[in-house]
Amino acid sequence: MALPSSAQVLVVGAGPTGMVLALALQKNGCPDVVVVDSALQGENTSRAVAIHAATIEASTTSFGESGYRYEALETIDCAERLVKEGNQVKRTTIWLGRDESPIDTAFFSPLSKYTKYNYILGVPQHVTEKVIGTVAEERGIKVHRPHKVANMRANEQDPSFTDVVFEDGHVLRARAVVGADGSRSTIRQLANVNWANPYGQVDTDSKDPSLANMIIADVTFANATSAFLQDAINLVVSNDNAFLYITLPGTPYPDQTNETVYRIACSIPDELGVPPHAPDIEYCQMLMDRWGPNIVLPKDTPRVQVTKTVWSSRFRTFSSIADTFLTHAPGKTPDAPRRAGPVLLIGDAAHIHPPMGGQGMNLGIRDGVKLAPLLTEYVRAASASSDCQVEELQAPLKAWATERRSRALTVIGIVKDLQKMLWIPTRRQYLLGFIPYNPGWMRNKVLRFLATFEWFRANAAWKVSGLANR
Ligand SMILES: Cc1cc2nc3c(=O)[nH]c(=O)nc-3n(C[C@H](O)[C@H](O)[C@H](O)COP(=O)(O)OP(=O)(O)OC[C@H]3O[C@@H](n4cnc5c(N)ncnc54)[C@H](O)[C@@H]3O)c2cc1C
Repeated sequence: MALPSSAQVLVVGAGPTGMVLALALQKNGCPDVVVVDSALQGENTSRAVAIHAATIEASTTSFGESGYRYEALETIDCAERLVKEGNQVKRTTIWLGRDESPIDTAFFSPLSKYTKYNYILGVPQHVTEKVIGTVAEERGIKVHRPHKVANMRANEQDPSFTDVVFEDGHVLRARAVVGADGSRSTIRQLANVNWANPYGQVDTDSKDPSLANMIIADVTFANATSAFLQDAINLVVSNDNAFLYITLPGTPYPDQTNETVYRIACSIPDELGVPPHAPDIEYCQMLMDRWGPNIVLPKDTPRVQVTKTVWSSRFRTFSSIADTFLTHAPGKTPDAPRRAGPVLLIGDAAHIHPPMGGQGMNLGIRDGVKLAPLLTEYVRAASASSDCQVEELQAPLKAWATERRSRALTVIGIVKDLQKMLWIPTRRQYLLGFIPYNPGWMRNKVLRFLATFEWFRANAAWKVSGLANR
């Protein structure tokens, strides 16, 4: 399919956020949207496994006279199909030791007062992308592949448009450009938007060696026992580490038999060196035995064994956020003034953080569904107006960019606090140099006490659900 030479909106990147935006733009009646991706086909890897209530459920709230509409996956007809594909995860459960009972730290049932999705929807990302892709295909949305954006500048004749140049030299003139092109975003770099950890110059997360490297794998087990709560996100919290495991729904891989597949994730301390690119059975087993469920199972229970790695990967955790989510393409020379055509950033192109709490893809999807009506309105209004009004018409886009950046900062803060709480040192330390205490032991006692209260568990679920930070 030939790449057109013009568009009202060019969406760069057909990951989950780009595809959701394309669907939402169509739903809002935005004309002439073109989606491009540099990859020959979608990534199709498991990655994100959690979809939260705020990402699924659309709702209308009234503030004073005017109602406010929260757009979500329901708005673009993906919710029902995703719910059919997923597991309903009802709680997060922390396992602290062999002789200690597990603690439910977040419990989602009480959220039924606020949402019909009173659970975390557990679906691997490749299934989520397949569902979104199928809906897009049914609606006639095409992805132009492989087309890699290489350059971008304001159009010389009409500065309210942006010229996007592809690797093969093709030029596409767009009224608005959306960078949904992932954490290494070419669009962000071409627009010279600064990208930094909001907590300082240095990436503070990766200064903590226990957090720098993580592995994630979808595996099958022999001897999966009662410690494998089907309706929970399970976390074994032990000596300076946390090991996560979840039951994946149904048969998420096409060549899979009836065996249950589990997601495991664990951080890799520095002393183990850089983990392999695709951790194998032995590596995953070593993590299971050092930090995973095998350290909390009763002594007489057979050791859980990894029998297959269906998919596995390593990655580095870090937090970063773009200085702005709305900018304009540079002019022909670096010192030429910025022109008027909006360039927007969504998803991982705009913000990234470690995967604890499963928020990354959720934030990105919500960036997209919320942007669509405003961008559609901008395209309509700008098409009907003169050049000099174009910047004025961008006020709602500016408000969107400010709001979404603040939402992303909140999530980055929540994830940071969660990490601090989970990776607390379990060695003895001294207060004022002589009073011994063990922060890990104290954390466990406080957590166990607080988790006896329903308000604590419900409040934790509320935060994770995103309903307070749509
Ligand atoms: C190991 C791992 C585990 C994760 N776990 C979770 C989790 O549990 N929960 C959660 O919510 N999130 C999780 N995430 C994050 C989640 O996967 C991302 O937030 C999500 O994929 C972001 O989607 P996106 O569409 O913004 O970007 P991407 O999925 O990265 O898609 C970007 C697209 O842009 C295309 N592209 C890039 N450059 C160009 C270019 N120059 N021209 C044209 N196209 C281009 C790429 O080919 C790609 O298709 C995890 C991520 C990783 C890596």
